[in-house]
Amino acid sequence: MTDQLAALSPGSTIGILGGGQLGRMLALAAARLDLRTLTYGTGAEDPAGQVSTRHIHAPYDDDAALARFGASCDAITYEWESIPVRAVEIAGAGRTVAPNLTALRTAQDRLLEKRFLSELPGVSVAPFRDASGTIDALRRAVAEIGLPCVAKTRRGGYDGKGQAMIRTAADIAAAWETLGGHALIVEGFVDFTREASIVCARGQDGEVCAYPLTENVHRDHILHTSTAPAAPSVHGGDDGRPGDIARTIADALDYVGVIGVELFDTAEGWVVNEIAPRVHNSGHWTQDAGCTDQFEQHIRAVAGWPLGDCRPAWPVRMTNLIGEDAADWPTLARDPSARLHLYGKTEARPGRKMGHVNRRSG
Ligand code: AMP
Repeated sequence: MTDQLAALSPGSTIGILGGGQLGRMLALAAARLDLRTLTYGTGAEDPAGQVSTRHIHAPYDDDAALARFGASCDAITYEWESIPVRAVEIAGAGRTVAPNLTALRTAQDRLLEKRFLSELPGVSVAPFRDASGTIDALRRAVAEIGLPCVAKTRRGGYDGKGQAMIRTAADIAAAWETLGGHALIVEGFVDFTREASIVCARGQDGEVCAYPLTENVHRDHILHTSTAPAAPSVHGGDDGRPGDIARTIADALDYVGVIGVELFDTAEGWVVNEIAPRVHNSGHWTQDAGCTDQFEQHIRAVAGWPLGDCRPAWPVRMTNLIGEDAADWPTLARDPSARLHLYGKTEARPGRKMGHVNRRSG
């Protein structure tokens, strides 16, 4: 696998592992640049496969299908951070993979991620401890971190799944009951005033371009709105810092592509919650902000092209359409202020991301 990417010509094929809405929007952005996409997902009707040039419908442990996929691609990326590393290795053997496997391995494991982040200059994270194996290990970690704290599975958690708040020592048994089958970490509870993120692109030549700080509001642990540019931070005067934090992280990983960095805004400054080695839900507003959107930036980076402009021409608020929200599409389609994006999912299960709407917010 080579880390050095050469610029791909129009007509080349980018392979996207993962068949969800992020892959769908990557494929749409690639098509505008005449870059073909081959998507790989586990469903015949995957949102990405509906719009990509070609789609392979196979499981992530089908080595032959992964090798066939890889052989048809000039560069490979992924749209889902829980993709098995082995699948990416097989698909990417002998060809360019971006973001690289170090970034993927780091982001897949909260313990590795926290260790990596905590060693970077100018980057703060919540205090954390490994708490795997036994309830006693969990008790020890809680005692060292102090109450309140949060137990999280090292792998696979998202949208608040795979985590448990521990407010008193009496909560430890319940946390162990739900999460104890998995390797865990314990994190100190961060007393934040709001949640924010930075979506940042890094090109093959090391050029970094960060979108403005985005403020995120969650409902039922799922992202509800993202507004950018965000209002200045509560601790004042340093709103350039999140961009510097994202750059430090991307440089340290020798990252190529778009990365999402989730942040807590606290009275003491910015605390990094986690990183996502992919385009990010809190960056969907970029599609309707009069600049190069995050999906095109990612494709440009993977293809070895120069990055586009990350500066929005106007402020935008993105609202996710979750579950039955998407049934409102006729109203939204009539609303001249709403830019509607639907993901092609047939079944509107509760909590499922079905689409989003972008609106100018100023
Ligand atoms: P995560 O899966 O790590 O993104 O966490 C999901 C949500 O849980 C975050 O968006 C926060 O609202 C909350 N959360 C996670 N970790 C902490 C923490 N250490 N302190 C306070 N709240 C947290």
